[in-house]
Amino acid sequence: MRSFSYARPATLAEACRSAEHTRFLAGGTNLIDLMKSDVERPAHVVDIKSLPMHHIVDRPDGGLRLGALVTNADTAAHPLVTDRYPLLASAILAGASPQIRNMATNGGNLNQRTRCHYFYDPAMACNKRSPDTGCAARGGRNRIMAVLGTSDACIATFPSDMCMALAALNATVNLHGPQGERTVSLRDYHCLPGDTPWRDNILQPGEIVTAIDLAPAPFGPHHTYLKIRDRLSFAFAIVSVAVGLQMKEGRIMRGSIALGGVATKPWCVPEAEALLDGRAPSHSLFRDVAERLLHGAVADRDNAAKIRLTPRVIERALWQAASGTPQSQMDKTIR
Ligand SMILES: Cc1cc2nc3c(=O)[nH]c(=O)nc-3n(C[C@H](O)[C@H](O)[C@H](O)COP(=O)(O)OP(=O)(O)OC[C@H]3O[C@@H](n4cnc5c(N)ncnc54)[C@H](O)[C@@H]3O)c2cc1C
Ligand code: SF4
Repeated sequence: MRSFSYARPATLAEACRSAEHTRFLAGGTNLIDLMKSDVERPAHVVDIKSLPMHHIVDRPDGGLRLGALVTNADTAAHPLVTDRYPLLASAILAGASPQIRNMATNGGNLNQRTRCHYFYDPAMACNKRSPDTGCAARGGRNRIMAVLGTSDACIATFPSDMCMALAALNATVNLHGPQGERTVSLRDYHCLPGDTPWRDNILQPGEIVTAIDLAPAPFGPHHTYLKIRDRLSFAFAIVSVAVGLQMKEGRIMRGSIALGGVATKPWCVPEAEALLDGRAPSHSLFRDVAERLLHGAVADRDNAAKIRLTPRVIERALWQAASGTPQSQMDKTIR
């Protein structure tokens, strides 16, 4: 048993006073598990649940602001989200279980850690958990690991479903820290592992995610979140695809795509998205887009199947979005 201090500040300024070895506690569905497994060993736990970040509100530009402490369940069920951002509601509902979504928060979802088995086992070498100790997943059991954005130091997949929809929606993350406030595009929020795989995202010490902003919704019915997983009840993605298309008279005016389950961060390739501009949906177009998205994919011992499976999931998702028949997360049959 490791001891740690616990505080529940009432203001952002108090919460952000940076201290070494501090972790913020939101819903606790990831952090507490990691502390129990001795993977996370914070000296200070700062419980942020009393901070004023519990609301979903309209933005003056017609978009929406999602408070970081709104639960995933409340976000997915909120009428402004289901009406204007069904892609986001769908991706959230594809993740975890109802019980987890009732506890998990939007800020926590962004900052959840990888599900790499070796990361969760302090007896194994893991550069992300313990810098410069090696990577047991390389050449190990790595069927669930990433094929895109990997490095010699780490091949761990970024596990969120919600973040794939946020990437496709080009969301913006609002941060508050000891140096003040700043915003960053969700697409730039998570880091590639490179040779610093312990760094999951661009948060500085003491910085808190306060809210996520969505621009006015552009896709109408032309969106989908398609998730392939080992079991339908709840499981992390083997491959997932979030797609939104702006369509006019049968043509795609602009497309937005994010891949999950296959990369070390939400995977977006602007050159692949640009291939869709002004084009009519077709098998050859969607194949080209999939090929461009997978460019540079590298398999390790057990995960080559992801490289074969992903283009098919991308193509199916693009057809679902183009025809305005998004994947249902209730009846999970893939059509
Ligand atoms: C059994 C199970 C199945 C799951 N399945 C899925 C799935 O299929 N898809 C999926 O996407 N997710 C899944 N999850 C993960 C789940 O979505 C995350 O655990 C959850 O979103 C984390 O949110 P939280 O509020 O509980 O975060 P916490 O556990 O409280 O925190 C997680 C991390 O985020 C940091 N943090 C939290 N809030 C903030 C903030 N506002 N600013 C800065 N840092 C912050 C914490 O310090 C901590 O490092 C699953 C989890 C479990 C336990
Ligand atoms: S893939 Fe990353 S998280 Fe997994 S063992 Fe290697 S360094 Fe650790």
